[in-house]
Amino acid sequence: MSTCTSQNPPAVERRRGDTHSRPTRVPVVDAVIVGGGPAGLSAALVLGRARQRVLVLDTGRPANAASNGIGGLLAQTGVAPSDLRRAGREQLAGFPNVEVRDGAVLDAAALAEGYGVKLESGEAVHTRSLVLTHGLRYDPPALPGVEALWGRSVFHCPFCDGWEVRDLSLAVLGSGPDAARSALVVSGWSRDVVLLTDGPARLNGERAALQDAGVRVREERIREVVGSEGWLQRIEFVEGPAEQRDALFVRTNRGQPNGIAAALGCELTAGDTIVTDGDGRTAVPGVYAAGDAATENFRSVANAIGAGSRVAQRVALDLV
Ligand SMILES: Cc1cc2nc3c(=O)[nH]c(=O)nc-3n(C[C@H](O)[C@H](O)[C@H](O)COP(=O)(O)OP(=O)(O)OC[C@H]3O[C@@H](n4cnc5c(N)ncnc54)[C@H](O)[C@@H]3O)c2cc1C
Repeated sequence: MSTCTSQNPPAVERRRGDTHSRPTRVPVVDAVIVGGGPAGLSAALVLGRARQRVLVLDTGRPANAASNGIGGLLAQTGVAPSDLRRAGREQLAGFPNVEVRDGAVLDAAALAEGYGVKLESGEAVHTRSLVLTHGLRYDPPALPGVEALWGRSVFHCPFCDGWEVRDLSLAVLGSGPDAARSALVVSGWSRDVVLLTDGPARLNGERAALQDAGVRVREERIREVVGSEGWLQRIEFVEGPAEQRDALFVRTNRGQPNGIAAALGCELTAGDTIVTDGDGRTAVPGVYAAGDAATENFRSVANAIGAGSRVAQRVALDLV
């Protein structure tokens, strides 16, 4: 007998007859995947192929939504983020044991066996395991003009977008030694880099290295970042001449996009990512995390796809 608390069980349960014959288990699905970005869709693919009953929920707000194309993804460079997700969903449509739905997971709580998951639609789903692939929230600096250019010509990661703006006029925003280091890193993509500190530079010994790399430093207060149709044109200061630039690199504040991991008792790092072992297992039994949500450094689509694949194999093995 199913213990699903929903009036309207998920299609994965209704379609059980389509799937490999197996004894009915108490929970309705084997895995609920929270987030259908590259990590979640990759996890769903591997779990689907392992004949697990999977429900993916996705609110359709990926980290790179504003981006024109994904940089640095093997054999797929330049593909639009939405096209990659669409292709992933199309592939998953071939699995009768996998359902991908639009909508949010609101919260999840431990049951005597597995987890009860509350959906935005009002439904409740009972699952044997929970995979958190809901990504991270990226907040760019609150400078006037940045939001309209975010992901198009204002970037946070030169490994994602540096190649596309190589040899152009670039700027890096920030002060202190970390910002100086970022400017030196970006100077690997162009010899025309200016570090905009928006106030006192707070540099010590870094000035010599910046000078050697040809990086100029401007300390004037920034008034506005100006662009058109996604393209950066110039940075205007409260005083002093504007700086004509093609792209700007900034630091972001990041955090969990919801309180699900914290409510389940998952440990979070100082950078607000979910702590897991190398396979994506959290310290909370039956709860897993992968992709940006659980990646402290070097977040990318390639990493998310790989982490999703890995966590799915771990989930399938743990469910035996
Ligand atoms: C502006 C920008 C540009 C980038 N460019 C590149 C690039 O060129 N190349 C590259 O490799 N990487 C790039 N990245 C990084 C890349 O986007 C991420 O590493 C990657 O998207 C992580 O995949 P993910 O599946 O973990 O998370 P995401 O892609 O963010 O997907 C998470 C999904 O979970 C959903 N979700 C969140 N909460 C819930 C909930 N409660 N219920 C249901 N669904 C939920 C979200 O709506 C979203 O669809 C960029 C990042 C940013 C911010």
